[in-house]
Amino acid sequence: MTVGNPTTDSAELGGAGERIHLENVRKEFGELVAVNDLSLRIREGEFLVLLGPSGCGKTTTLRMIAGLETPTGGEISIGDETVTRTLPQERELSMVFQSYALYPHKTVRENLAFPLGKMDLDDDERETRIRRVAETLEIAGLLDKDPGQLSGGQRQRVALGRTIIREPRAFLMDEPLSNLDARLRVQTRAELRALQQDLGTTTVYVTHDQEEAMSLADRIAVMKDGELQQVGPPEDVYEQPTNEFVAGFIGEPAMNFFALTADDRPTLFPDDPVPLGTSLPEAAETVGVRPEHVHLASEVDGETPSTMPPFECGVDVVEPLGNAYEVELVRGTTTFTARQRSLPDNVATDATVDVVFDTDAVHAFDASGAALLEGGEVDG
Ligand code: ATP
Repeated sequence: MTVGNPTTDSAELGGAGERIHLENVRKEFGELVAVNDLSLRIREGEFLVLLGPSGCGKTTTLRMIAGLETPTGGEISIGDETVTRTLPQERELSMVFQSYALYPHKTVRENLAFPLGKMDLDDDERETRIRRVAETLEIAGLLDKDPGQLSGGQRQRVALGRTIIREPRAFLMDEPLSNLDARLRVQTRAELRALQQDLGTTTVYVTHDQEEAMSLADRIAVMKDGELQQVGPPEDVYEQPTNEFVAGFIGEPAMNFFALTADDRPTLFPDDPVPLGTSLPEAAETVGVRPEHVHLASEVDGETPSTMPPFECGVDVVEPLGNAYEVELVRGTTTFTARQRSLPDNVATDATVDVVFDTDAVHAFDASGAALLEGGEVDG
């Protein structure tokens, strides 16, 4: 599907693309604090992804923006209007859920028309909107079919169409792609991104899938235990995580963490120490190294400037990924992962290899898990 069909001015479809501000928003369910003092400024037309593990408060946050939950404290505004206690229907937002419930006995056209029901539109306007949405999503040929006759991907598009057709002030999406198979999910994700950019409608999207977040978001807001950990563009959150949690949550394979055995210079691997070869702030307790910054030394000769002397490791497992290799390494009792684009000949299970870290790319964390070198924004 090419989103933004040349026969359609899809910009006309977009809502106002308004900003959404949350100020110190809190939600308690009895004793449980589901969302704790969340301040987040979502910009006009932005695609903001709320990311975090199950139970961290993402859905509750989205439901408070939608008006389906009332905050225990704090304020929510859309554009210049405070909406903290207004009814969902007065907020003019559109919400897409995991299960895209279409009316099974209505045609695609009737499903698309349904959200227009109470709007003050004449028949021509109604038909124009349906046509425009259907052409943008390339489902115009399906308008007279029933949902049962459609593929999962087509049904998802009809569900998206129902979201768009109302021309809301923002889209709120809660894991809308999770019912699709892996291939279709990646394809629909790209389409969704293109569509949102085309429409320019502010979008808040909930997921626990960091890869999905990285590929969709203008900015990612990472949450844990009801608290905002960091908000920033995907590359900032990846390259400058504010704490150990964000560093470990974002990135696949995950960042390697090493406890420092600190003397006067930082060393790693307590039972077989190796000097890190670079200085770290005094408070450093843990070092994080992404798998792509772990180099098998023979590969890296003359390429990666590293102040670290190579050290020997055993090769536990080599996993070919098609375009790269994941190598599980072990030194003493510590195991960690390298990601390599190509493998030197001598690298196979049970071999001994020389390893260096790209010391310019190491992350350091203090005892509380806070990043010590460069951290990104915590407050959105
Ligand atoms: P998931 O990805 O699993 O949906 P989430 O990050 O969206 O998780 P929420 O659904 O926002 O998390 O839930 C946050 C916390 O609030 C959880 O501990 C959950 O059990 C609790 N919670 C959510 N809704 C209610 C409710 N209506 N009553 C009581 N507790 C609730």
